[in-house]
Amino acid sequence: MTDTNAKPVPISALQHYAYCPRQCALIHLEQSWAENRFTAQGRIVHQRVDSKKAETRHGLRVERSVEVRSEKYNLSGKLDALEIDIDSGELCPVEYKRGKPKLHDWDRIQLCAQALCLEEMRNTRIEVAALWYWETRRRDPVSIDDQLRALTINTIEAVRLQFESGMTPAAVKTPRCRACSLNELCSPDLSASDHSADYVEGLYRP
Ligand code: SF4
Repeated sequence: MTDTNAKPVPISALQHYAYCPRQCALIHLEQSWAENRFTAQGRIVHQRVDSKKAETRHGLRVERSVEVRSEKYNLSGKLDALEIDIDSGELCPVEYKRGKPKLHDWDRIQLCAQALCLEEMRNTRIEVAALWYWETRRRDPVSIDDQLRALTINTIEAVRLQFESGMTPAAVKTPRCRACSLNELCSPDLSASDHSADYVEGLYRP
């Protein structure tokens, strides 16, 4: 059950959590942030998108930087672009990404959360959304199917529990750490080899 008094979960937190739960906690609970090459490129892509105005072309109205919110899931965020088919009224959220399509679902979870918000706000159903990748200049349609919806709702619940607990999980070193902007701050190498916590705990073990 959603606590209506709780602060809305930022949609970006879902992507951070799906990438690494510790990254999510460092950013959203501890307000830690560090920029690396990837985040800087991402910021530039979003600045370019944000600076564009709404326009109508080829039967589509395209709105930029659209604020969205869901009471049901207690979510809030912003879409890069919302395409509205002028004839049918069909909506298609579009998220711009700096890199290239990924095998993992973290970008798709973010997009699906945006779709869930739009469905609630505009009393509609969204079947397909899109991710646009700067590096490959490619637009990928994303089916907002039951599987992605379930994964997204599970991630919303996991983030909500993390926020409620206020706990930052320990670092678990994975290949993702290499591209993580918080690598230096998080020190996954150090955490993996630092057994001081175990030592202290062992002192009090009967
Ligand atoms: S460095 Fe690795 S463990 Fe640490 S926050 Fe980033 S992805 Fe997570």
